[in-house]
Order: sequence, then structure tokens, then C-alpha cells
Amino acid sequence: MREFKLYDTLSRTVKPITTSEPGHLKFYSCGPTVYSYAHIGNFRTFLTTDLVIRTAEAIGWDVTYVSNITDVGHLTQDDVADAAGDDKMAKALASKEGDQFANVWDLARFYAVAFEDDWKRLNLKTPTVRPRATEHMREQIVAVEDLIKKGHAYETPTGVYFSVDSFEEYGKLSGNTDRENLQVAVRDVVQDDNKKNPADFALWKKDDKHLMQWFSPWGWGFPGWHIECSVMAQKYLGDTIDLHGGGEDLKFPHHECEIAQSEAGTGKPFCNHWMHVTFLQVEGEKMSKSKGNFFTVRDLLEQGFDPIALRYALISVPYRKPHNFTIQTLKDAEGNVERFREAGRRIEAILGEGWLESAGDFGSDQLGQELSGIYEQGLNAMLDDLNTSVAIAKALEGTKAILRISSLSESDAKEGAAFLAKVEALLGITGLIATQEPEEEAEPEIEGKLVSVWVTERDEAKKNKDYATSDLIRNKLTAAGIELRDTPDGTVWAKR
Ligand code: AMP
Ligand code: ZN
Repeated sequence: MREFKLYDTLSRTVKPITTSEPGHLKFYSCGPTVYSYAHIGNFRTFLTTDLVIRTAEAIGWDVTYVSNITDVGHLTQDDVADAAGDDKMAKALASKEGDQFANVWDLARFYAVAFEDDWKRLNLKTPTVRPRATEHMREQIVAVEDLIKKGHAYETPTGVYFSVDSFEEYGKLSGNTDRENLQVAVRDVVQDDNKKNPADFALWKKDDKHLMQWFSPWGWGFPGWHIECSVMAQKYLGDTIDLHGGGEDLKFPHHECEIAQSEAGTGKPFCNHWMHVTFLQVEGEKMSKSKGNFFTVRDLLEQGFDPIALRYALISVPYRKPHNFTIQTLKDAEGNVERFREAGRRIEAILGEGWLESAGDFGSDQLGQELSGIYEQGLNAMLDDLNTSVAIAKALEGTKAILRISSLSESDAKEGAAFLAKVEALLGITGLIATQEPEEEAEPEIEGKLVSVWVTERDEAKKNKDYATSDLIRNKLTAAGIELRDTPDGTVWAKR
């Protein structure tokens, strides 16, 4: 069996991933909080997890991959132990963009759909399970009750807190518990003097005013941010998982707290290997809306950039290295993606449609040997802590070898197809080769009329202040699973 090495934050070494079942990787990675569109930094992280899956599958492993959606309104300062500040969902609802939504549930659902859409456009593989925090409330409450019963958590007038002193290994992932910082932070914000230790973190917050609230043994309120991941990882992957991932900001407190909750609850190791992705910078700086260097995936696609080129640009630097994304990087990526497509078109001209799927293996002639060697080097680079820059260079080298041949014979075309099929499987950057373009889904019809026609009629009705008709149309579309959003540029619709 081949080794797949990744840097492990817990042991601070690059080491082979061990799977508890031979050839079966159980992998969890933290998904987005859906209160706005995902940005390209988020996708640096999600694309890295996608590459883990593709590389594992390239060496014959099965992967069970769970990536959640955080659709509970956690707090803007959820990285301090008390979890303070404003509710992110409520804040988004109160903002200008929030005007389009009836409530926080509506807002979370809308951005979750938008997120899955971005995910597909960047050619990421669909997770085995994509659980939502709001659909696992019962399990979270039970987990908190269990921690209280086992002496790891306690109730105060403001909530339920995990006692970090009850778990000796707290801090083992991040290297420190950042207690100093936590104490400073909590002084400025909500402080619960009943906490045993200022570093104790929230498992449940009592709040009967919160826009999203559930009933619990501790009254109305909502869960702390960390508990959902412990619960969902265990539910879908078992008590001990093989690999857990996320962006570097999640090491502390999120993942540290996940370990504490899970291991205190089960008495077993929670996860054997931790991977963290270095933050993406844009135009040399931390992305921020005020600096004008903040890009959502949609921003760039709406400007006409190719989604596969965006994918290429985001994965082109190995995930632990600093990556400074620039518009120029994206333009350069477009040129390289076009090379893959050109090779694909030439192969298609000989082998016909569906050539990528029907690609066999490398032959023993000269081109086959050369491409096989190049592919192996690319795969080895990915197996060595996801060295994408080498793997992509190898993909390009092979593609150039295919393009170098002025008139491809059928056997050359088959070799080329075998190569591109493997590159596609490993890196997924050739996903838009002519024949592979995902088919545009036909626009749905409702009562024999296209959705866009209904939308225009509704806009008309609204313009004429005929709100009875416009509401009727909206309800009809909602019942058929079509979501409408009123934007300054008109109404847009999406399938739920
Ligand atoms: P969030 O929606 O904020 O929970 O983030 C979703 C994922 O994106 C998490 O794994 C974050 O660590 C990650 N992330 C956020 N910002 C960046 C960035 N600039 N670069 C890479 N990953 C990021
Ligand atoms: Zn998480």
C-alpha cells in the first residue's frame, strides 16, 4: 500500500496518514458559516480538502468525507471562550443585503444554497455527508448533558461551560491555551463571574431573545460553536476519525475545543491527524472588505473569469505556503487551463466524445512511457504533503508532450487521454475540457411557464403595486422549490 504523507499539526511532523480501516479514510473538515457568500480564501481551504480526497482515491482508498454547514447564528467573537459580540446571522440580516430575507433561517438557507453552487462550479467533489448544525440540535444537547454528567461541564446563569481544568490535555493541538488572551478578551465583553476558569468555553448559551433558539434542559438558547463538529464527526464517522481539516485560524480555539469535548465524552482519541491550511492573501494583504481586496467566488466569476482557472490559481501554491493571490495569477491560470483544453480537443477529434471516460491505461510505446513517468512524479508530489506546484508542473509537462506531436495517431490519442484522465482525477483542473462541460440544466417550468417568465410577471405586478399577484407568484414558486431574491439589479431565482 502506498503512503500518503501530510503535515500533522498535533505531532508537528509530516507523517503518513494512518487509516483505522485499511484503505478507508474517514475525513472531516469544517464547513462554512453561511451568513454571506464564501470568499476565495475559504475556497483555498475547501480545495485543499478536495485534493486530499482526490489523492487518496488515486491510490485506491475509499474516502468517507463529511463537511458540515454551520447554519446557527454564532457570535462575532465566538473565538473567545464566553462567545460574545453580535450574532453573525442577525448582523447580516440587519445589513443592506439582509433586506432580501424574511428572517435568519431564510438567510442561512439562501447562503447555504449559494455555497453549494460555488462548490460545484469550482469542481469540488460532493461530500459523502454535508450535515447542517440546525438539523443536529438534539444530538448537541445530548452531548452537553453527557459532559455535565461526566463532570466536564457545568451550568451557570448564562449557559453551560466546558471545564478546561477537567481535561488535562487541553492545549495539546495549538500548543497553548491562550489563556492570557482569553482573559483579556473576556474582560472587554460579557463576563460570567460564575465560570470556574476564564478559559472555560461555552457549550450552550442561554438566550431567549436570540433569533435562532432551541429549548434545552437549560431553557431557551443556542449551542456554542464547537460542539456541532464533535457531534457530527462522531455521528457520521465514529468516535475516532483519521483526518480532520480546516483553515489555520481553526486550530485554536475551535479544534482544541472539539478535541476536549470529544475525548472527554468518549474517553477515546478523537482524531489521528490534523491538517490546517495557511490563509490566502490577496494582492499582498490580508483580505478585507475595507481594503477592497476581498473577493467572493461569484465576484470573480461574474467578471467573466473561468471557474476552472480560479480553481487552478487557488491550488497552484502548496497549502502550507503563503499564497498571494493576484488577478494576474488568475489570468496566467487561464492560459494554462486552455492548454489542457486544447490537448483535450485534439484527443477528442480522434477518439470522439466521451474520450475522457473511455481512457484506458498507458501503453508501452514511447509516449505512453513518458506520460506514465510524468504522471507518477506528479502523484508522488501530491502524496508528499500535497505538493501542488510540482504536480501541476508535471501535468503541464505531460500536456505539452501531447501538444508537441503535430498529428496524433489513434494510439497517441489514447495515451494522451489516459494522461489527462489521471490528471483530472488527481487535480481536477481539466474539468472543463470541451466534452466534459457540465450540461446546463434546463430551466424548470411551472404550470407550463418558464420560471423566468413567472419572475418577470411578478416584477411587473410589483411595479404596478399589485402585491396580491406578486405574492401569489412568489408563493407558487416557493412551493415548487424556487427561491427568489430581490436585488438592486432585479429579481434572481435559484432552485432550493
Ligand atoms: P468560516 O465560514 O469563516 O467558518 O470559514 C470556512 C473555512 O475557511 C474555515 O476552514 C476557515 O479556516 C477557512 N478560511 C477563512 N478565511 C480563509 C483564508 N483567508 N484563507 C484560507 N482559509 C480561510
Ligand atoms: Zn468545525
